[in-house]
Amino acid sequence: MVPFFDTKRMHAPLADALRGAFDRVLNEGAYILGPDVAAFEKEWAATVGTAHAVGVSSGSDSLLATLMALGAGPGQRVVVPAFTFFATAGSVWRTGAHPLFVDVHPETLLLDTDAALDALAPDVSGVVTVHLFGQMAEVLAYREKRPDLWVIEDAAQAHGAADGEGRRAGSVGTAGCFSFFPTKPLGTLGDGGAVTTQDPALAQRVRLVRQHGSHPKFHHEIMGGNFRLDTLHAALLRVKLPHLDAWGDSRRAVHAAYVERLGAVVESGDLRFIPEVPGLHVYHQHVVRVARRDALLEALSRQGIGAAVYYPEPLHVQPCFAELGYRAGSCPNAEAACLDSLALPCFPGLTLAEIDEVSGAIRAFYGR
Ligand SMILES: *Cc1c(COP(=O)(O)O)cnc(C)c1O
Repeated sequence: MVPFFDTKRMHAPLADALRGAFDRVLNEGAYILGPDVAAFEKEWAATVGTAHAVGVSSGSDSLLATLMALGAGPGQRVVVPAFTFFATAGSVWRTGAHPLFVDVHPETLLLDTDAALDALAPDVSGVVTVHLFGQMAEVLAYREKRPDLWVIEDAAQAHGAADGEGRRAGSVGTAGCFSFFPTKPLGTLGDGGAVTTQDPALAQRVRLVRQHGSHPKFHHEIMGGNFRLDTLHAALLRVKLPHLDAWGDSRRAVHAAYVERLGAVVESGDLRFIPEVPGLHVYHQHVVRVARRDALLEALSRQGIGAAVYYPEPLHVQPCFAELGYRAGSCPNAEAACLDSLALPCFPGLTLAEIDEVSGAIRAFYGR
């Protein structure tokens, strides 16, 4: 038995500190925003390397609030990759703008930079690029071509990742959007998120959008929603934040252990690792491309080994986007990835014995 992810294992050594944070918030009696949210925002901005961070209610809401603050809406299109979590495109749709789905690179599975540059029609107002599975996608090329664009980094899987120049995910684009869902590289015990930016005006606007656009209280110049980060989650995240880099090291060590053990299956051509781009990969998901994916997944499940498919269906052909008129075949690399991607167990605290078990089961499946 090997779990796909075990948050309890990560939290066990921090249990007393997490309980302490809960007790402190309970006793202080203020549960919305307040000093813990402000302190976490400072700490998160310092971690990412931006001037500002704004705590919000989830990763999805970090995207929605940022898009609303940037004025995305009807008549605009926004470039998004066809292979990512739904929220990347769903948040664009919710503003009234249309997602313009662009294929991913066949090997890295990150938004294909050349294809995205080619897609920058005059009605495109921005790009949401995704640091998929924990490594950074191209951010700067789009504004080099079209300085009027904004570029949002969907960094919901990439806390602590960096590009080849050492810039951290969320610090390079117009804004960075983070999720603190429990299994993300930094997660709380529930939902949470943050928006990072170097731009003080944008940070201020996201703060307004986070509270129904209300300023002063009960006066609304712009539209917003309730997108606040709970005080309790900010307090819990402050306990976990100092461990982020060590957890990244652990995930990279898990990757290195898989590489060592799965060489024979790579040589036989039955499995390949997703190539790393320059920079620091935090392996939010440890995704490999495999022949006979569904049969392997079933074999692993039968042995109690947690593995999962990220993602089984590309976004451009989701029924909710039918009116955009995309067809199967329009983003072939995304479609191929949906058929052969498999995420293996990868989390801080996964033991070498468990990695042996997963690797042994994969080798046995392919007879290697
Ligand atoms: C998790 C995730 C989100 C959404 O975050 P939530 O906190 O679950 O709302 C958005 N984009 C990507 C790429 C994600 O992985």
